Amino acid sequence: MSYSYDTDNIFAKILRGEIPNKTVLETKHSLAFEDINPQAPIHVLVIPKGAYVSLDHFTQKASDAEIIDYNRAIGEVCKITGVQPEIGGCGFRAIANTGEDGVQEVPHLHVHIIGGRNLGRMLANV
Ligand code: AMP
Repeated sequence: MSYSYDTDNIFAKILRGEIPNKTVLETKHSLAFEDINPQAPIHVLVIPKGAYVSLDHFTQKASDAEIIDYNRAIGEVCKITGVQPEIGGCGFRAIANTGEDGVQEVPHLHVHIIGGRNLGRMLANV
């Protein structure tokens, strides 16, 4: 099944400027903004500006320029938010929920950068 991108998803609306966001970083191909429902003191979403549904979609179909820009943006967000251990931060978790089993709510690729407190084990024992 090939991916079909829903142009009405909420992050597409943010990219078109139709709804506001608290921008942390904007680059040529990427946008980072604060999550509206933060799960920790630091909770930033990093999205590509292109129409990609998920991480696998992006890494298979995006241009080299987009992929480089996106990864650099993630690194820059870690620096800006202060979670980067190299600059004295206490670390973070990067999460890209994907599809049904990954419980992805918004069908536009986003990596959550979450930190500012100890996040416990990676997965809940459910
Ligand atoms: P996921 O379950 O990985 O698809 O996560 C979607 C994330 O988007 C959730 O953490 C939401 O809190 C966040 N979110 C939804 N709408 C907005 C919005 N308008 N601005 C910022 N974050 C949002």
